[in-house]
Amino acid sequence: MPVDLCTNVAKDSDLSPMGIYRLLPQTNCKICGETSCMSFAFKLLKKEITLDKCTPLYEEEDYEEDRRALEEMLRPLMEAEMTETGLVIHEDLCFGCGNCVVACPVNVAEDPKGCAIGNGPTSDKVILKVENGKVKAANVESCRRFGEHRILCNACITPCPAKAIEFPGG
Ligand code: SF4
Ligand code: SF4
Ligand code: SF4
Repeated sequence: MPVDLCTNVAKDSDLSPMGIYRLLPQTNCKICGETSCMSFAFKLLKKEITLDKCTPLYEEEDYEEDRRALEEMLRPLMEAEMTETGLVIHEDLCFGCGNCVVACPVNVAEDPKGCAIGNGPTSDKVILKVENGKVKAANVESCRRFGEHRILCNACITPCPAKAIEFPGG
């Protein structure tokens, strides 16, 4: 998986399992190989399956409008590079304020002087770092959302005034 994680994913408030589910046929027919349309929606967000596996969307005229809406909604995500943790940075929205850099507990632990007091990271072990006015991610295996003892860390998401960071898969 590439590690240049900054992408141009468009923000869309419906880019959530429920937002996707609303546009699916909701018949739980299992043609896609999933047990339910909701399961399919979760896998779409994690990029573990593609929309075309839901063949009713393409074959039944009644679903055409919803399919087009889904294609539009999902295109930026499908074109985006995503880390193993599901982290997506919307480069078009990020303006390099550094809030996420100083908020990430891994950054602070790995580089207390650089991150905790806001001087900017000096260690190459940090996850988030601003370069050329945009935040970049690296060392994603250290992210608290990753690995056996993962937790639902939101520390980089909540302080971002631009809503430029998200984990679409939840
Ligand atoms: S093929 Fe489409 S309608 Fe059928 S279960 Fe999968 S997502 Fe739902
Ligand atoms: S989810 Fe937590 S540990 Fe992972 S990059 Fe964001 S702030 Fe850092
Ligand atoms: S907090 Fe948001 S705008 Fe600021 S550097 Fe991080 S991603 Fe960019």
